[in-house]
Amino acid sequence: MDLRLSLEHEAVRAAVRSWVADVVIPSAIANDRAERFPVEALAGLRADGWLGLTIAEEYGGAAADPLSYALVIEELGRGDANVRSIVSVHLGLVASAIARWGTAEQRRSWLPRMATGEVLGCFGLTEPDHGSDPASLSSRAERVAGGGYRITGRKIFITNATIAGVALVMARTGGPGARGVSAFLVPTAAPGFSTVPLHGKLGLRSCDTGELVLDGVDVGPEALLGGAEGTGIKVALSSLDDGRISLAASCTGIAQRALEEMVGYAGQRTQFGRPIAGHQLVQELIADAALDVDCARLLTWAAVDLKARGESYTLAASKAKLYASEASVRAANNCVQVHGGYGYIDDYVAGKLLRDARVTTLYEGTTQVQKLLIGRALTGISAFT
Ligand SMILES: Cc1cc2nc3c(=O)[nH]c(=O)nc-3n(C[C@H](O)[C@H](O)[C@H](O)COP(=O)(O)OP(=O)(O)OC[C@H]3O[C@@H](n4cnc5c(N)ncnc54)[C@H](O)[C@@H]3O)c2cc1C
Repeated sequence: MDLRLSLEHEAVRAAVRSWVADVVIPSAIANDRAERFPVEALAGLRADGWLGLTIAEEYGGAAADPLSYALVIEELGRGDANVRSIVSVHLGLVASAIARWGTAEQRRSWLPRMATGEVLGCFGLTEPDHGSDPASLSSRAERVAGGGYRITGRKIFITNATIAGVALVMARTGGPGARGVSAFLVPTAAPGFSTVPLHGKLGLRSCDTGELVLDGVDVGPEALLGGAEGTGIKVALSSLDDGRISLAASCTGIAQRALEEMVGYAGQRTQFGRPIAGHQLVQELIADAALDVDCARLLTWAAVDLKARGESYTLAASKAKLYASEASVRAANNCVQVHGGYGYIDDYVAGKLLRDARVTTLYEGTTQVQKLLIGRALTGISAFT
C-alpha cells in the first residue's frame, strides 16, 4: 500500500531513493562483511546536504518537514540501516535537541557546522549500569570555579561515538532521580574525552558504535544545554520522541526491503516444478510481511502527522517504534525463510536485514519499555516505580 504523497514529497522520495541506489546499496553487503564503516556514504551525506536536512535554513539546513524526514529515513533504512543510523542520531537525537532546547548562542555555535556535516553529533545517555532506567545514571558534572563543569563518567553503546564532534551527554549535577540530571554539549576534542570502539555486534556491523570515556572533562557554562540544570532527562526523552519516529521509519524501510527481496526471490526460485511463489505457505510469509510493512508505515506517518501539526506525539511515537521494530524483525525473518539456505549466507541481503533489524527492539527504549510507556499513557498509572 502506498498512500498518495504530494508532488513535493514524491520528489523527495525519488531523490533519496536514487541516491541510496547509487551511493549506499552497492557497498552495503561488503561493508557489513568487513565491519567497515561506510566512509563513501558519509562523504556523500555531507556533499549532498543530507546531514542538514531538518536543520533550519538560517543555520544552513534544508528545514525539511517531518514527512520528508521520515521518507528519507525510510529509504536510508531500506538501503542500509548503518548509514541511516548516522543521520538519525545526528539530526533526530542531537541537532533536534539543540534546536529545541539550545540557547541562541548554542544554536549559532553548533547547528551551521552540523548542517554541513563538518561536525557530527552523538547522543550519550546509556551507561554500563544504567540502560532502561536513565534517570538513575551516575556520570557526574561538578561545578568548578568560573561557572563551568568537570564531567566524569562512561557512556556505552554510543552510535557515532568515534566520529562525532559534539556529544550530547547527560550527567548528574544534583541529587538522585531525573531532576538531578543535566544535559551538556561536549566537544569531543576536549582534553579528558576519549572513545573506545565496540566490535563484534550481531548487526549494524559497519556502524560506528563505541564507548565515551569522560575523565574529568572541563567545559564552560555555555556547554549546559538550555542554560538550566535539572532538565537533562526531559531533553533526552524529547529527543527520544523524535528518535522513535525516525527509528520507526527506518524499520519500515527494512521491512519494505525484506518484502521486495522475498517477492523477487520467490518469483525466480523453482522447487517442485514451479516458482516457490506459487506455494501457499510461501505466499503466507510474503502476505504477513506485506501487512507488517503497511501497518508500520501507517503508524509512523500517524506520528509524523501529529508532529507536523504541532500536537503531542509521544504516545504515537512509542506505538510506531514498538510496532515497526518488531515488524522489521518478523519481515526480515520471513525473508530469510523464503530464501531457504541462501538466506543464511551473505551473498544475499536477507541475513543482514535480520541482523540489522534485531537491535531496533532494544535501543531507544526496548519493546518492554515501550509497552510500559503506552500502558502508563493509557491508564495514568506508572509501572516503572
Ligand atoms: C547498537 C546499539 C546502538 C546504541 N546506540 C545508543 C546511542 O547512540 N546512545 C545511547 O545513549 N544508547 C545507545 N544504545 C543503548 C540502548 O539504548 C540500550 O541498550 C537500551 O536502552 C537498553 O538498555 P540496556 O542495554 O542497559 O538493557 P537493560 O535496561 O538492562 O534491559 C535488559 C532487559 O530488561 C528489560 N527491562 C528493563 N527494565 C524493565 C522493566 N521496568 N519492565 C520490564 N522489562 C524491563 C528490557 O526490556 C530488556 O529486555 C545503543 C545500543 C545498541 C545495542
